Amino acid sequence: MSMTQSMIQENLDRINNRVIDAAHRSGRTPSEILVVAVTKTQSAETLELAYNAGVRVVGENRVQEVLEKWPNFEQKFEWHLIGHLQTNKVKYIVDKVDLIHSLDSLRLADEISKQAVKIGRIIPVLVQINVDEEDSKFGIKVEDVDKFINAVSALPGIKVCGLMNIAPFSENDVFLRKTFKKMKEIFESLKNKAYNGVDMTYLSMGMTHDFEIAIEEGANVIRVGTGIFGTRS
Ligand SMILES: *Cc1c(COP(=O)(O)O)cnc(C)c1O
Repeated sequence: MSMTQSMIQENLDRINNRVIDAAHRSGRTPSEILVVAVTKTQSAETLELAYNAGVRVVGENRVQEVLEKWPNFEQKFEWHLIGHLQTNKVKYIVDKVDLIHSLDSLRLADEISKQAVKIGRIIPVLVQINVDEEDSKFGIKVEDVDKFINAVSALPGIKVCGLMNIAPFSENDVFLRKTFKKMKEIFESLKNKAYNGVDMTYLSMGMTHDFEIAIEEGANVIRVGTGIFGTRS
């Protein structure tokens, strides 16, 4: 089913209202929470509708899709890469993305830095944390985070601006809350350590099914696809 302008507008309004409520419940300011509209699998037509509805920040998880969509929407959106990035594809997107949420290895950090230096950029990144230590997930293990961030902070073309996590799919709010709480603790502890060249600004966690809990536990970036664009085909 393809989405109409008014369907996207209504969905977006509903998400924004839920963000406002969740922010208020946790004593936070709604305007400090960024909603990244996850446009993966969505067509150029849908992106245009999203723009008309007020979307200004989009998240994609595949390099190929960024390459297809970016030329027509370069100026309209801020582009975030939210999915696992293969080292050999960094060179194609290093001039296009505004934030990479999914830094998950030192090899990838080296390559992002190398390609960024070539074009005179410093790429802001979030470190993806595998906080529940799931085998199936990308991300840095909690015990390795300090060492990892220290190593990345020495690279000239990349700047760590926060953390990201993808919670396991679960209907169990207690479990999800625990996961987000743990992320927030790591975030605060790194902020207190104030590593040189590292800004702990963004905590990206929460998707359509769990973003309210994420906000209540401290997320200031959420990534919402289905809630705005409907079920992906
Ligand atoms: C697809 C995706 C999302 C959005 O998921 P929804 O459940 O559709 O909101 C968020 N983050 C990442 C990393 C994704 O790949």
